[in-house]
Amino acid sequence: MKTCPVYLNGEFVCTDDTFPVHNPATGEIVAQMSSHGIDRVSQALEHAHAAFALWRTVTPDARGRLLDRIAVELEHRRGEIARTMTVESGKPLAQSLGEVSLTIQHFQWFAGEAMRAYGRVVPPMVAGKHHLVIKSPVGVVGAISPWNFPLLLAARKVAPALAAGCPVVLKPSDVTPMTAVALAECIHAAGGPKGVFQLVMGSGPDIADEFVDNPHCRKITFTGSTAVGKKIIAAAARTAKPLQLEMGGLAPVLVFDDADLDSTVAAVLIAKFRNTGQSCIAANRLYVQRGIHDRFVKAFTERVKSMKLGDGLGPGVEIGPLIRPQAVAHAAAQVEDAVRRGARILCGGKAHAGLGNFFEATVLDGVAPDSRCMADETFAPIAPVCAFDTEAAVVRLANNTQSGLAAYVFTRDLARGFRLMEDIEAGIISINDGLPTTSQAPFGGVKQSGWGRELGCEGLDAFLETKHISIGL
Ligand code: NAD
Repeated sequence: MKTCPVYLNGEFVCTDDTFPVHNPATGEIVAQMSSHGIDRVSQALEHAHAAFALWRTVTPDARGRLLDRIAVELEHRRGEIARTMTVESGKPLAQSLGEVSLTIQHFQWFAGEAMRAYGRVVPPMVAGKHHLVIKSPVGVVGAISPWNFPLLLAARKVAPALAAGCPVVLKPSDVTPMTAVALAECIHAAGGPKGVFQLVMGSGPDIADEFVDNPHCRKITFTGSTAVGKKIIAAAARTAKPLQLEMGGLAPVLVFDDADLDSTVAAVLIAKFRNTGQSCIAANRLYVQRGIHDRFVKAFTERVKSMKLGDGLGPGVEIGPLIRPQAVAHAAAQVEDAVRRGARILCGGKAHAGLGNFFEATVLDGVAPDSRCMADETFAPIAPVCAFDTEAAVVRLANNTQSGLAAYVFTRDLARGFRLMEDIEAGIISINDGLPTTSQAPFGGVKQSGWGRELGCEGLDAFLETKHISIGL
């Protein structure tokens, strides 16, 4: 069985200390991943600090060209990396291929953004003074990424940090490390200088502590659950370490009577079931207005019943396994709770028999708004539907949470669309669209869903310091 290496100061290193990587569709061990103690993380930060001295002076154009070459490497290996991703995450292969493609776009976008770290010249209040605002790279970045989009979400940190002139030490999820190793190989093959990108692996809390306490690490960027994000916030208070946080979501879907039925069903299917419901912007709760409710639920349930469940490598599979056995238990408990509070199961509703962590694609109707599947992140293929009467009532329901990552609105009323852009408390509001993410637009949440933004020009700015230069002549 192959052992996957970490990537330290330009070298791939297999260690004696390893842990198994599982295929969630079969339960099989598919590889061993190298792991190491905290001393190697502090060495990696030391090497990154040394690399920063040079990398910050490389022209933005040359940094962008490295990103373009990484995109080319990813393109060459697109099929193979997608298979690796499916094997360790369970994601249906077509979606893994899509993830590699979007990752390539992210690298290409930030290759261009490297050239646009603009400052400005500010008119003086006092004659003879000159004021400049300049942007400088923040320094070494410690990045921690989750399992559910193992390539894409690492890229949202690595690409802008490198573009801004910052070396990165990445700690990927221990559930999906092989995809991160493939990213390291692409960066290596593209000619990334020693120490500019490194991949470490070990205990999440210990590595986060090292990022917090080590003065060479100047910023931590984290994507994962809100629970873990809060632990990192608490630890970061020790050294006032700057944080960028992308945390959990609880996206509401608001379907109004005037929505176009067919396109709404198609869009909500994507928003709900992409990655088997395991997306931070997954439609967690569906509010459907009384006048379209029955037609929507019927058409939606028919389509959900037709989705093929299986190993993500199989042809036409749309519903893969959940990442862990505990996720199946969590999904079953949410369905049980909803039914206890009066919900009806229209399809699915239980774990799928056989090997692997499968849960059937599920539609629940008549779900009480305070059910757990409406109030807690589901991260499973469960679509709970609750009927509503008025816009004011559904806005209250949508905002009645401490999460605020994404929200989806389906209506043909332009005035309502504009009202809801303002009224809904979320960082991403998707109107008549089930797939809002794009490299050029900021991605992130309000309330307890996050601090800061990835992607767009904001994604680069996260790794730049703003300095005011005052000159008296
Ligand atoms: P997670 O919080 O369990 O883990 C995320 C990363 O943190 C992993 O690398 C993990 O090893 C590490 N980690 C775990 N415990 C840690 C600790 N105590 N200190 C430091 N690091 C620790 O999340 P996950 O299960 O990998 O991903 C799913 C979660 O991530 C969901 O809540 C989802 O909504 C969220 N997410 C958010 C976004 C976003 O952009 N807002 C994107 C994807 C996923």
